[in-house]
This record gives sequence, C-alpha cells and structure tokens, in this order.
Amino acid sequence: MASPTLFSFITEQLADLKARGLYNTIEPLESANGPVIRMGGRSFVNLSSNNYLGLATDKRLIDAAVQATIQFGVGSGAVRTINGTLSLHIELEEKLAAFKGTEAAVAYPSGFNCNMAAISAIMGDGDAILSDELNHASIIDGCRLTKSKVIRYSHSDMDDLRTKAREARESGRYAKIMVISDGVFSMDGDIAKLPEIVDIAETYDLITYVDDAHGSGVLGGGAGTVKHFGLSGRVDLQIGTLSKAVGVVGGYVACSQAVADWLKARSRPFLFSTSLPPGAVAASIAAIDLLQESRDLQEQLWNNASYLQNGLRRLGFSLGPTATPITPCIVGDEEKTQRFSAMLYEEGIFAKAIVFPTVPKGTGRIRNMPTSEHTSEMLDRALAAYEKVGCELGIIG
Ligand code: PMP
Repeated sequence: MASPTLFSFITEQLADLKARGLYNTIEPLESANGPVIRMGGRSFVNLSSNNYLGLATDKRLIDAAVQATIQFGVGSGAVRTINGTLSLHIELEEKLAAFKGTEAAVAYPSGFNCNMAAISAIMGDGDAILSDELNHASIIDGCRLTKSKVIRYSHSDMDDLRTKAREARESGRYAKIMVISDGVFSMDGDIAKLPEIVDIAETYDLITYVDDAHGSGVLGGGAGTVKHFGLSGRVDLQIGTLSKAVGVVGGYVACSQAVADWLKARSRPFLFSTSLPPGAVAASIAAIDLLQESRDLQEQLWNNASYLQNGLRRLGFSLGPTATPITPCIVGDEEKTQRFSAMLYEEGIFAKAIVFPTVPKGTGRIRNMPTSEHTSEMLDRALAAYEKVGCELGIIG
C-alpha cells in the first residue's frame, strides 16, 4: 500500500467540496426509479430520473428481459468481436437503424461508451473537431481520446461556429473536420440549432455528429432531434442511449453502413468491452417496437412537462431556455441550490441539485425531469413544495 500522505489531496479536496456545497451525496433507492420512489423508508415524488416514458418498469419490457435471460443467460460472456454477439444484438441494431432512418446502427454498453468509441475511431491526428462548449462530458472525453485539434464554439452561437468552421477549412491544416453537438442539451433542455449546423457543415464539408441522448424517444415522434428538424439523411452520426426514454441501459451509433463496419472493426469499446446483456437487449428491442407503435407515452410526457413548466413559471421561477421536458429551476449559488433541494426533500419531493462541475459555477439549478407517468396530483404536490421552499429561500416573492 502507498503511504497515506499520497492520498491526503483527496481528504483535503473532499472537505473543500463539502464546504462549498459542491459535493454530491448519494442516497440509494429502495424501489424502482418511477414517479414515486422510496428512500430511507420514506416516499418521494421523483423529479430526477431520465425514465422519460416510464419504460424502465413497463411489463412488456420486463417480460422480454426475463424471457431472453432464461434463454441466453444474464451475461453475454464476451466482447462483440469474440463471441459476445448474439442474434439479439443484430436484431436490436437493425431495429435501431430503422427507427432512426439510417443504413445501420452499432450498439454499445452505454451512451458514454458510444462517444468514447465513435469520436476516437473516426477522428485522429491532423483532424479538427468543432465542439459546442456545453457538450456532454462524454463528448469532451471522447474528443480528448483523439489527437485532433479541439475547437470549442460558444454555446449554440452559429456565427461563432461558422467563423471557426471557415477558418479551420481555409487554413488547409486539417484532413477531416467534424462538428459535434448535443441534440438536446442535458442541463438546460434547449435544442441544438441543427438546421444551421447542418447548413454550415455542408458549406465547409464537415462531418456532422449529434449526441441525441435526450432527444431520442422525446422529439421527432420518438426518432429524435434530427427527425424533428426534417434532417434525416443529412447527419453523419447520431448517438442515442438506451438508458433514458428507452428505459434500459446501453447506447448506439446510428450511421451509414460503412461507418458502422468501421466502428465494428476499430472502435475500442466494441472490441474490448463485454457486450450488452441479453435481457437489456431484448427489453430495448421491445421498447423500440413500442415507440414505433404508439406516441401516447410521448404525448403524456409533453403534457406533464407543460403542466410542470407552466406551474413553475407562474410561481415566478426562472427555467432558462428549455424547449423540452428537461425543466431546470435556476437558483445560481451552489450552496443555496443544495439547500433548496434538501428543503424539497423534507417536503417529500426528490429533485436533485445540479451544481459545478456538472454546470458552470454560479448557475446551480434544480433539474426536474417530468415523465409520462407523473399524475397531476404528484405534480401539484411538487408545485406546492416549490412555492413553499422558494418563498422561504427568498427566490420567489
Ligand atoms: N450523452 C448525453 C448528452 C447524456 O446526457 C448522457 C447521459 N448522462 C450520455 C451521453 C451518456 O449516456 P449513458 O447514461 O447511456 O452512458
């Protein structure tokens, strides 16, 4: 064992994080991650899950998972390229491609993995990546794995992107240039200006890459942000996750057949990480089928989101630029944000504080995630708690 002094930086920095309200406490759930959860023997209205459509506990997904688990076991036993590719994985990839309207799709153990995999398999030394400054952490890390020049552009600032794309192209320094954006920005809920991004990409011959973790199942009739804007066929790579609206776990890249073949040959998480377990794959297949059959759950999600957002705005809260069900309640100061969340907790509402480094300093917020499963009674309870706590903390009048 190393001498304890080598780890003293951890003790010091943890104490500092705690003192500044930047340390996330983790409380385990004693129930499924539904609209009402149990923690510490108490029930809470849950406004913090990404289980947008309630599919995590849908009987049809559970049945599919159980049946596949009985037939294939709990684990897939190997990485995809050795013998961890089951017929189920192929079926899922075909369904995802059809769902997204692309030639092919490649499934990975997580959405985070997809960004590690796809960015670094395609971009390398001598290339450049134009990346929105608010892109998800997994995109930032995926970019770091390349030896490409990473050029950040101001959040959704299309003039900045256009200028930087032109400069990068005209410099003649880069073999390939990629533009990467979240489809829906996960902490603010705003939608990327994809029509302009695609236009700029077509002008300067950029590879387009959209991480649609929060758009899939939510926008474009479920197919996501690209479909929402009518841009199918004009975006090279779309990332999706199976862990949010789909309700399971895993991620995928929807792309051309050539790119999919390349990712299967070269992307490191595909080659070196055990494939998704059979139960998760079968449940995801069932979810994609459901999403294609009916839009009822999506409609319910959007109705609930409007109900909550209208209620919070009426109370006087600032929700920032959200245009999706993601409902941030901006507080600002980190400590006050943590206190807000703790006071909501006392009122029986679980709504997690999101603070630096997940969001920029001074922009702490309570991030509410309404789902299709919330009832108006649950949302009314949440609004009543918001009113009480917001007044007590002097955030609303
Ligand atoms: N991209 C974005 C934009 C996300 O919000 C997330 C989830 N936090 C991910 C990727 C990672 O997805 P997963 O949870 O499936 O790893």
